[in-house]
This record gives sequence, structure tokens and C-alpha cells, in this order.
Amino acid sequence: MSESSESSESNVSNRSSGSSGSSGWPRRRLLGTLAAIVAAAAAYLGRATSVLRAAEAPEPSPGGAGKDFTPLELPDSAWKQLLPAASYDVLFEEATEKPFSSPLNDEKRAGTFICAACYLPLFSSKTKFDSGTGWPSFWDHLPGRLGEKTDFKLLLPRTEYHCARCTGHQGHVFDDGPEPTGLRYCNNGVALQFVPDGEPLPALRQAT
Ligand SMILES: [Zn+2]
Repeated sequence: MSESSESSESNVSNRSSGSSGSSGWPRRRLLGTLAAIVAAAAAYLGRATSVLRAAEAPEPSPGGAGKDFTPLELPDSAWKQLLPAASYDVLFEEATEKPFSSPLNDEKRAGTFICAACYLPLFSSKTKFDSGTGWPSFWDHLPGRLGEKTDFKLLLPRTEYHCARCTGHQGHVFDDGPEPTGLRYCNNGVALQFVPDGEPLPALRQAT
């Protein structure tokens, strides 16, 4: 055994490199470091790939079985013509509206919040609460009406959610909401329309 101030790592190297002595272990340690980097990169890529897959094929939330609607797929160019610019930017460019800018933040009547793009009902007023954030907030959504994916726009992962029918971006969900779910669906007001109880819901928008 050669003299070494290093720990068991060099012992392992020396044992496996036979009589090559201390000249062998730095290279092996370098290789070990490279292997660790490659493994870390592979793990990162694996995670990124799974996120991308989720983004490409959004899944309805649990409870979405037995969907009672057909997906609406329109090119962004069509949505751009159909929607006000502020709504389009949020729904299909994932912009975020300014807090306290939407009248729906203060909407307290009983009714239904529908997707501003395709008109699919997404939230009931029964689950709306005042989060103090300046964005319309809900502690639950109507079953099967949202899909989720993880985004890294702020570096830390956040869970983005979108309309399960047209994939229009609605907001982000956090786990600091009230009972009974403990969730807070933080929604952009321009991505929703409100239909008070007693008024008919509009027919779902169709591709023309
Ligand atoms: Zn929609």
C-alpha cells in the first residue's frame, strides 16, 4: 500500500489498481467524479423529460374519468382572433395578470366560473374564498375540469393548471389554502368569465 493521506477512497483505488501505486488513484477519483456528474445529469434530464411529457400530454386531474366534453384544439392564431389580448396572453402565453386588476377578484355572487376561451365550467362560487392575494382564489375546482403540469418559470417548480378542454392556462395551485382541501387555486381573472346562478351557461365554444 502506498502512503496516502486520503481516505478509504484511495484504499479502494489502490486495491483495484494493484501495484500501480499512488499514481493510479487520482485518475480513478477523476473518473468517479465524472461518473457522478454524468449520473446527476442523467437524473436531471430524466426529470426534465418527464416534465416535458406532462406538458405535451396534459392529463385531466384525478376525478376526470368520464369526461363530459370533447377537447377543443385550435391554433394559437385562432385564439388570438377570438379573445381579448389580455385574455389571450394569459391563456395561451402563460402571462400573469396584475393582482387586484380583475373584477372577478371581488365577485361574491353565487354562480359558475367558466373558461374564458372555450366556456367550460371550471369553478363553482361555493369554493371561492378571499385569499388576499388579489387574484380570484378557489379551494377546489369542478371535477375533471383542470389539467396540471409543473413549470419552472421561477426556477422553483410550481404546479400550473389549465382548462382540461382547450388547455388554456388558468393559474397555479398551492398547498396553503383553506380546509377542506388545503389547496389554493390562484386564478387569473381574465382567463375566466362569471355566470351568475339563474343565467344560462353559454354553449361550449366549438371550432368553426
Ligand atoms: Zn377552456
